[in-house]
Amino acid sequence: MKPTSKDPFVILDLFKLNSITVDVENATAWVQSGATLGELYYAISKKSRTLAFPAGYWSTVGVGGHLSGGGYGALLRKYGLAGDNVIDAKFINVDGKILDRKSMGEDLFWALKGAGGGNFGVIVAFKIKLVAVPEKVTVFKVSRTLEQNATKLVHKWQYVAPSIHEDLTITLRINNVKSSQAGKQSYHYEEDNKGKTSYEEASAWGVKYFKDNFKRLAEVKVVVDPDYFFRGEQTIALRFGDFSPSLGEYFRPIVCLT
Ligand SMILES: Cc1cc2nc3c(=O)[nH]c(=O)nc-3n(C[C@H](O)[C@H](O)[C@H](O)COP(=O)(O)OP(=O)(O)OC[C@H]3O[C@@H](n4cnc5c(N)ncnc54)[C@H](O)[C@@H]3O)c2cc1C
Repeated sequence: MKPTSKDPFVILDLFKLNSITVDVENATAWVQSGATLGELYYAISKKSRTLAFPAGYWSTVGVGGHLSGGGYGALLRKYGLAGDNVIDAKFINVDGKILDRKSMGEDLFWALKGAGGGNFGVIVAFKIKLVAVPEKVTVFKVSRTLEQNATKLVHKWQYVAPSIHEDLTITLRINNVKSSQAGKQSYHYEEDNKGKTSYEEASAWGVKYFKDNFKRLAEVKVVVDPDYFFRGEQTIALRFGDFSPSLGEYFRPIVCLT
């Protein structure tokens, strides 16, 4: 919701919903959404030195938004996104029902692993798959200025980074760059009808973010949140069409107008 919106809205503070249970034998864990990545990494490291979870770099980032938004970090090349390693979830839908992967169905479960949980309901906890790591890993940093041939390094990095062995992740950070082009490109977003942006309007940015997945996400959205309760800036819009998703039996049938 825009800060200026007159629509009522609810803020859920999940901070204390941060319990983490690690199952070393099965290399899985349940993590509640209010935990931070730092808390998750710490809980795993207390139980095992050779298991990890492939998520973001920053310890203060919240599990709820990160896992439901995809989430990338140093293990991305070897194990994919954090969302790729979610294997189940406890989720509260717009009617207040608690669903798991089985009862929500594969389409909604798919959407919760990258399209932003806030679009569809509230994720209480995720079950995640833990991945194998060596006891010791090596981390290093190389800093170069333009005078020290940073341009050459960046050029080379573009060729090496995607093709080198997957055990090595090389990321690039550019600091203090001033450019006349900076900030010129932005995705324009306008609300109408109390934030109930149409699918066509939302496509202006949605297709850029989600590419071909945007259509499917909007079709999942129309089934799980037909009254558009969960909405905000750059939310997934509703798409009415000929789609028949494989959602759990729980969901009520709705009439779709094309
Ligand atoms: C300092 C910093 C470092 C970062 N580093 C990385 C990185 O290394 N890799 C990376 O991929 N990203 C990174 N990010 C981006 C980060 O993953 C996103 O900002 C993420 O959405 C943060 O989630 P949150 O729960 O902390 O934030 P919030 O602002 O609380 O939530 C973000 C969105 O997710 C929704 N949401 C949160 N919890 C739930 C829930 N339980 N159920 C349903 N919806 C929910 C919220 O409604 C909101 O729309 C970083 C961000 C910051 C600020």
